[in-house]
Amino acid sequence: MKQKVIIIGAGHATAQLSVSLRQQGWADDVLVVSDEPHLPYHRPPLSKTFLSQEKTIDDLIIRPSAFYQKNQIQFQHGRVVSINRAQKNIQLSDGLILDYDKLALCTGSRVRKISIAGCELEGVHYLRHIADVIGIQPYVQRDKRVVIIGGGYIGLEAAAMLKKLGMHVVVLEMAERILQRVTAPEVSEFYMRIHTEEGVVIHSGKSVTAFVGNTHVQQVVCSDGSEFPADLVIVGVGVLPNVELAVDAGLEVNNGIVVDRFCRTSDENILAAGDCTNHFNQIYNRRIRLESVPNATEQGKTAAAAICGLSHEQNNLPWFWSDQYDLKLQIAGLSEGYDHVVMRGDAHTSRSCAIFYFKEAHLIAADCINRPQEFMLSKRLIAEKRKVHPSRLMDESISVKELLLD
Ligand SMILES: Cc1cc2nc3c(=O)[nH]c(=O)nc-3n(C[C@H](O)[C@H](O)[C@H](O)COP(=O)(O)OP(=O)(O)OC[C@H]3O[C@@H](n4cnc5c(N)ncnc54)[C@H](O)[C@@H]3O)c2cc1C
Repeated sequence: MKQKVIIIGAGHATAQLSVSLRQQGWADDVLVVSDEPHLPYHRPPLSKTFLSQEKTIDDLIIRPSAFYQKNQIQFQHGRVVSINRAQKNIQLSDGLILDYDKLALCTGSRVRKISIAGCELEGVHYLRHIADVIGIQPYVQRDKRVVIIGGGYIGLEAAAMLKKLGMHVVVLEMAERILQRVTAPEVSEFYMRIHTEEGVVIHSGKSVTAFVGNTHVQQVVCSDGSEFPADLVIVGVGVLPNVELAVDAGLEVNNGIVVDRFCRTSDENILAAGDCTNHFNQIYNRRIRLESVPNATEQGKTAAAAICGLSHEQNNLPWFWSDQYDLKLQIAGLSEGYDHVVMRGDAHTSRSCAIFYFKEAHLIAADCINRPQEFMLSKRLIAEKRKVHPSRLMDESISVKELLLD
């Protein structure tokens, strides 16, 4: 009897998991059920080169359909609405029931929506799927006004790209500073300076209370009474993990679907990978939920191994990136809980620097802007828990190579 793996969702985790299943010896059926009408695609370009139409949908597709056909990985378009663990089947919104032997939840995350007056007006958009960007593209016109709600990475990436395309760009951030949740003040100041130099207007401490217009948005109104004219609004205020299927099925969920180091959920026949999971990270000695391509890819490999009866433990240093203008930010590790930072390079005048985050004399994370060598160094130092003196990291007369030999 042939066994069947069903994977729910067709994002980055699935792109890896499905391929790894074949690489690791799964010879039986693999079916991907996805509510997006596309093969797995690269999501990061959505706020970058796909937004600017430099890249097409075909460019975004991670692997062509011929690859999946050759590897007998099948796709079914549809939304999964429930899991019956006792019967080992899933149900789609059209009523179709599909049996599985192993099930992988790769449902990712969805945008956090804001529900304020005018939120249904035309011209108010979010940015998560190809379809979202296709909805935004007609409004991307030189000299038109875009207001971006949220000064996180996705909002700032979109701001950079839309500015480059000739739009008037305003970013409204509710917190005291942009990137407050994820970086040190030094990094926020750096990006604030760069965006201002590029002509983007950023206001922090702004709480948006309404969108105003007849059928189309014309203005964004804030709680302090300030108003910003807009032809287009992009809301980027974070994401929520898609855990409802798991909750309804009675799986353990706690800020993400709880998985062990082999991506197994509390049901031995169900695995989970990517943005929707919460896993234990040995380097930081705590449970975390990550929203990043490298994590989705690594967990895809790990989940595939578990399905094939192999053990590939997930034990990676989290890392991320963000592209804005000519700046490539590479982030090694998690800075949460840091007690001080040191800087290599000049964040006040240049477009290249590295900020190292320390906790109790240990390097725990680094934000490296146009500094690939420092990024590689940081990954090594943090993952290997090597001691490094902050003053040596700051000293540019000591090369990265020398620091690696310390
Ligand atoms: C604009 C943008 C820019 C980004 N830039 C970066 C970047 O520069 N670097 C980086 O590391 N990360 C970036 N990310 C984050 C990265 O894209 C995610 O971490 C990654 O996509 C997670 O992969 P995933 O497979 O877990 O989930 P996803 O890629 O979200 O895929 C999940 C899929 O499951 C589908 N699905 C959910 N529920 C169901 C259901 N019930 N039935 C059927 N299908 C379902 C969803 O529609 C989706 O297609 C960016 C994200 C966005 C939106």
